[in-house]
Amino acid sequence: MAASPSLLTLSAPCAVAVIGAGVSGLACAHELAKKGLSVSLFDKARGPGGRMSSKRRPQATLDLGAQAFTVRDPRFAQAVKEWQLAGCAALWPANRYQASSSGWQTHNDDQLRYAGAPRMSAITRHMAEALSSLPHTTLAFETPIAAFEKTSDGWQLIDQHGATYGPFAAVVVSAPPPQAYALVADWDDALAAACKDKPQRGCWAGWAIFASPLPPIEGVVPNWHTVETGHEALRLATRNSSKPGREQQPESISLLAQLAWSDTNIELASDVAAQQLLSAFTALFPNGTALPELIDLGAHRWRYAQPAEAGQQSYLYSEQGLALCGDSFRGSRVEDAWLSGFELAHALLARSVQ
Ligand SMILES: Cc1cc2nc3c(=O)[nH]c(=O)nc-3n(C[C@H](O)[C@H](O)[C@H](O)COP(=O)(O)OP(=O)(O)OC[C@H]3O[C@@H](n4cnc5c(N)ncnc54)[C@H](O)[C@@H]3O)c2cc1C
Repeated sequence: MAASPSLLTLSAPCAVAVIGAGVSGLACAHELAKKGLSVSLFDKARGPGGRMSSKRRPQATLDLGAQAFTVRDPRFAQAVKEWQLAGCAALWPANRYQASSSGWQTHNDDQLRYAGAPRMSAITRHMAEALSSLPHTTLAFETPIAAFEKTSDGWQLIDQHGATYGPFAAVVVSAPPPQAYALVADWDDALAAACKDKPQRGCWAGWAIFASPLPPIEGVVPNWHTVETGHEALRLATRNSSKPGREQQPESISLLAQLAWSDTNIELASDVAAQQLLSAFTALFPNGTALPELIDLGAHRWRYAQPAEAGQQSYLYSEQGLALCGDSFRGSRVEDAWLSGFELAHALLARSVQ
């Protein structure tokens, strides 16, 4: 960590800023706010979610980031239980397949998987509402933080339009490391180096909505839910309409691209990427199979979809009050992101009682 003359201590009611309303930033902000700290959360997007966000189309809502998630850690299990009770997450017992040149094979394991209900972003929306119900919290969306300034009172944040926020005793950055780098590079060499050390890979995420159900495939259960493929472009197709709470939706498919294909094709126009992912999906069906009428097709470019390698530390902070969390610091899953934010908050809180 970078050396600093003042040791970081946080105790209520001191003010902390959290940048990023993805699952890691929300988990961190919630733990800090529960202990009475004054927490201000900022996100550049219109709402919470980050890579757990969902795409609302007139006919259906599709998950274009995380498709489902697993639970291993008991602390995360507790949070998921609470989400289930609140009705924003549910078990999704997916019928999983793997498609190759020799056809479709079942690809099930004994891992329980959960999905957001009725969309993945219902979870982060629930987390944001729980946070905003705590005293001394503010949530600001459509607020892209562009720079920090350090004053004698603490950290000031400056947004893209020049508005300033603060002062804050500490600033948590939960944006993916390449985006976090731009914010911390002028202030902390160690945190900047850690961000540089965590490159992210991009990923195209397409969607296709059909007017009627997909045709059956011989030897495959009619209610199959996901198929992983070895196709050069397409990694995973997921039937959104089979997820909890989406029973009224027409047939809607998320089409996640292979990372290597995304690396090469990240600058494609989105309609071209969408068309290529749809062609790859069509190729999973026996020759000559006509798919139902397509009523919507598109693709979203995630420039920072997942860390190139799993991180070794759950989070990082410096004595001068800058901190980093997010999935990159632990792994590449929803659970990793949540744990990173949760553990950072508790590490910062532990400092205040020493
Ligand atoms: C295509 C795809 C499929 C995936 N599938 C799965 C899966 O099946 N299972 C699973 O467990 N995980 C999956 N993941 C991974 C999972 O989505 C992530 O691990 C998790 O959502 C990351 O959360 P986070 O809070 O760390 O980051 P993010 O969700 O990226 O949150 C960071 C937030 O910071 C905001 N931000 C960035 N810069 C600024 C700024 N300057 N000012 C203000 N706000 C800013 C962003 O808008 C964003 O909301 C998938 C991810 C992708 C992209």
